[in-house]
Amino acid sequence: MDMPSRIDFGEEGTAASDGQRGFLGKLGSRIGRSRGDVAAPGLHTREALLLLQNYEESGRGWFWSTDADGRLTYITDAVAGLMGKTGGDLLGTPFVDLFTPADSQGERQRTLPFLLTRQSKFDELPLSTVDAEGERWWAVSGRPYFEGDRFAGYRGSGTDITEQRRSAEDASRLALYDSLTGLANRFHISRRLDSTLAAFAQQQRSCAIMLLDLDRFKQVNDTLGHPAGDALLRQVAERLLKIVGDKEMVSRLGGDEFQIILPDVEDRGKLGDMAADIIASLSQPYSVEGSRCIIGASVGVAIAPYDGLTSEDLVRNADLALYAAKGGGRGRFRFYSSDLHQAAEDRRALEEDLRDALTRGQMQLSYQPVVEARTNMVTGVEALIRWNHPERGAISPALFIPIAEEANLIWTLGEWVLRKACEDAVRWPGELRVAVNVSPIQFANPDLPKIIANTLASTGLRPGRLELEITEGVFLADSAETERMFKALKGLGVRLALDDFGTGYSSLGYLQTAPFDKIKIDQSFVHGATVDGSRNGAIIAAIVALAEALEMETTAEGIESLDQLELISKLNVSHVQGYVYSAPVTSDELVEHGEAGSWIIKPSGPARQRNDRFQMFRRVGAIHGNHRYHVVIRNLSATGAFIEGILDVPVGTQFVIDFGEGQLVTATVRRSTRHQQGVQFEQSLVSDGNGGLCTRHRVSPYLIAAATQAPRDLAVPAFNTTSDWEAV
Ligand code: C2E
Ligand code: MG
Ligand code: MG
Repeated sequence: MDMPSRIDFGEEGTAASDGQRGFLGKLGSRIGRSRGDVAAPGLHTREALLLLQNYEESGRGWFWSTDADGRLTYITDAVAGLMGKTGGDLLGTPFVDLFTPADSQGERQRTLPFLLTRQSKFDELPLSTVDAEGERWWAVSGRPYFEGDRFAGYRGSGTDITEQRRSAEDASRLALYDSLTGLANRFHISRRLDSTLAAFAQQQRSCAIMLLDLDRFKQVNDTLGHPAGDALLRQVAERLLKIVGDKEMVSRLGGDEFQIILPDVEDRGKLGDMAADIIASLSQPYSVEGSRCIIGASVGVAIAPYDGLTSEDLVRNADLALYAAKGGGRGRFRFYSSDLHQAAEDRRALEEDLRDALTRGQMQLSYQPVVEARTNMVTGVEALIRWNHPERGAISPALFIPIAEEANLIWTLGEWVLRKACEDAVRWPGELRVAVNVSPIQFANPDLPKIIANTLASTGLRPGRLELEITEGVFLADSAETERMFKALKGLGVRLALDDFGTGYSSLGYLQTAPFDKIKIDQSFVHGATVDGSRNGAIIAAIVALAEALEMETTAEGIESLDQLELISKLNVSHVQGYVYSAPVTSDELVEHGEAGSWIIKPSGPARQRNDRFQMFRRVGAIHGNHRYHVVIRNLSATGAFIEGILDVPVGTQFVIDFGEGQLVTATVRRSTRHQQGVQFEQSLVSDGNGGLCTRHRVSPYLIAAATQAPRDLAVPAFNTTSDWEAV
């Protein structure tokens, strides 16, 4: 800029200005005089005046003056105009009133009234005003002037710095915010977490963080392309903001990872509900660039001060919880607990072992009969992989298949399963069908049809006897690819079954377009149907009706009890797979039973489904008065449990049950035999995200520290026990 942004008025003002019309004139004459130019005062004055007028008119700067009380005696018309006034209107207004008040703008503006009362000079003080077009920023300078010794007011200038400020803000926004989603970036959120935790530690407040990772995002990105992936991430950010509310607390760390800070939340009931809401919301279908796609999300939660005091510890632990949530089958949340360190270690070890499991002959297939409900006749079997680990025994495929998927081992494993199942099936005497589970990752490989064709050819299995079970995961992108794959597979003459219906986001829509021969309704969905008030039964009826119309079979999975079997038959589900008929059997057993169309199994099992108590035996502490007993806890439910280990406890006795890691709950004895007490918890336990339960709140480390210094006078006599106890 070639014009000065600040005009120095000097400090020895001489004339009090009386405002509007006279200011420039007097200013000019003062400039003339103060320079002591006696030779040609008129010329200099006029020249200075014109220069200043030019400057005012250029809009780059403006002038102001006040009287001794800080009231405006002059202000450039143009700037008054920007404030919706004329220079005349503003005369007499306190100068400070032009600007946005201090408290909404922070430290800087508080200094203006302060500076004015101290009669200090100031330079380029940033101040803001608000007009119809929004916020404007000014750099304002001022000098006090005096008449003799008496303070007479201020004279000063200002320039518009709105543009500069905006671009500076943009630059800092770029440094602090993720340009794709507008959320805080990793740098920003980690600084925020640092400062929040530091402040909260002093105030003994809690703060939770959630780490969130999208499930199957990579597949969407790969099949629909990066622009679609970007669009999807933006929608994810919007959905997250809707749930979390506070924009500043949600961040994208990069890729498909997000972090949320939740100050002053430690209630694991609330956090679990929120995590479940987030997962449900993100699992709803998305429409990106004309395609529909479905992804999921997993969430790990850690809470300060319980799970860590520094942001480093807290993030690491939330990450461990996230890792465990993903390992637990995706679409889940998980709270951090200290045993996750071991679990993560185990998982890594398992991945190592998995690499050699096939070549070491540790993998086996077992086959579970699928029975036609009307006739009790076995129509086919499902091949289920079994891993017999030399040290750890049988490991569930629910545990190691996700590991295999992540470690790129699913292909070798999948091909082995396919070949083995076909080889076994040709040895069975009848025409039993064999179903093989195909991971969505296998399904996404264009080579799959070729491999299946080769396997069928080399083993000699009739294609109509092979059924491929695929989960809804393959519909995450209803791309042309998916359709082509369906066509190619159908072209081979194999059958297709939709597995685990009811677990993910189940849409009946794709049933009409995908050429399935069978729908397998997931165990959890069927179990849910037996609960009072559940709508699952109605939904199953609708699925069956639709399946019948489309000439598909239906199979209910995981049927264990006779009441479930009855319900399922009533709902007209055609086939049943579950312990009520048979657990998985070996191929050799099928060689015996597989005589064409002759294997009939009579259903047998418990009359009713057991209620959902967690059958576990866990050692916990029970504190009464100043005694701490070691007890075994059984039949834990959210509201109560049985404890064993203390003898002859009267009904009504209160204990504090210590589940460890600061999880204390007050429990009252409601039933008591000599050896066992039924206790009711004062506050219900909540889901730990892993099929287990945990307390809503934990005793904060701060409280524990304080409590150890507190005096105790709780001397009560000890109960007799079957184990030991200690004084606390
Ligand atoms: P899935 O395909 O839904 O298989 C049914 C699961 O339910 C099997 O568990 C089976 O043993 C179990 N099940 C059957 N009847 C009952 C019952 O009455 N009660 C209960 N509680 N469970 C029952 P499994 O063998 O542990 O397999 C778990 C999952 O692992 C399978 O679910 C499937 O998704 C996956 N899986 C198994 N084998 C393979 C494989 O070869 N390849 C792939 N990609 N995945 C596999
Ligand atoms: Mg299956
Ligand atoms: Mg299933």
